[in-house]
Amino acid sequence: MDAADKRRFRSAVLKWYDQHGRKLPWRESADPYRIWLSEVMLQQTTVAAVVPYFERFTSRFPNVESLAAADVDEVLRLWEGLGYYSRARNLHKAAQAITGEHAAEFPSDVDVLRTLPGIGRYTAGAIASFAFDQPAAIVEANTERLYARLLALRDDVRATASQKLLWQFAEELVPEKRAGDFNQALMDIGSKLCRPVDPDCESCPLQKFCGAFQQGLQKEVPVRKPAIAITAIAELAVVLMDRERFLLRRRTEGERWAGMWDFVRFEISAEESSTLPLVQKRGRSKSLFSPEGLELPEFAVQKTQSQIGLKPGPVVASTEFSYSVTRYKVQLICFACSAHRARGKLSDGVQWFSLDELPELPLSMTGRRIADWLKTR
Ligand code: SF4
Repeated sequence: MDAADKRRFRSAVLKWYDQHGRKLPWRESADPYRIWLSEVMLQQTTVAAVVPYFERFTSRFPNVESLAAADVDEVLRLWEGLGYYSRARNLHKAAQAITGEHAAEFPSDVDVLRTLPGIGRYTAGAIASFAFDQPAAIVEANTERLYARLLALRDDVRATASQKLLWQFAEELVPEKRAGDFNQALMDIGSKLCRPVDPDCESCPLQKFCGAFQQGLQKEVPVRKPAIAITAIAELAVVLMDRERFLLRRRTEGERWAGMWDFVRFEISAEESSTLPLVQKRGRSKSLFSPEGLELPEFAVQKTQSQIGLKPGPVVASTEFSYSVTRYKVQLICFACSAHRARGKLSDGVQWFSLDELPELPLSMTGRRIADWLKTR
């Protein structure tokens, strides 16, 4: 695009935004804290799913100081259900860095923002442009697709060279003034009009700048490498229970869901799975019933002991869930075992909790399903 085309492009984008821009809770102010929070929540999550989390989170932590001062468990608990929990831990760490190193003032410079935990190139550009109106570029899922179509890009959009090209394109287009509105507008045009399937080119204000439209390539662009194959795996969860108390361990640094509480759980092979005392499926229900008193096989006893220090007693009940994470489809088999005859000494980071305390703990989605099952069992 030459300079005149860029001017026309920016003007078309901003005019569209003034007429059609979306009203969202985090767009009502230029508060960098709220913008940062919303951008982190929106990673991997839809707007509809984020709105109630955003409102709960900002009502409990209305500013960066209150988030920095909070216990990380409470932050994780409020995040529960949004997934990708490292985002919540990084939010907490970044809030502490902002209060500790920047006198509780959000930096407005992209390069400084990028030094904070969990803030990458996109999030830094979003905060700088939305909150401080800095001419900072953004490329996220919606704008990535939009820019790829505008450029009629025939290469895989995830390739390094393509990403470089898309960022360069975004940087050349972002205006000196109203950069935030401009970026918001492009995200909205990407999600509302330039949809992955069936883009609404007739209503699009950028039609005359669009290479894919001119060449009839909307269905081919963006090009993506085929998705990675899904692998089926099995996990075993072991809940030690003593009357109405349950044993949980805090997941350690480097583990998935680090910092959150979880029941004993580990991956098992197909061979190990076949040795478990699952005896019956009842009707269409996913519940599996094991005769009370059966012992877990030795491999499960050993692995349980290695995580919590105790050997489980006889099985009391069992159930089964399935869930998906990244490229895995996981069958989660869960045993509740008596701790009456449990032997050994509790490991560090392992603790008993009552049924009433479980709702207060930060758990993964599947940890919460196990806790709910224990409650209704
Ligand atoms: Fe997307 Fe169609 Fe607009 Fe091109 S003209 S940017 S393909 S909606």
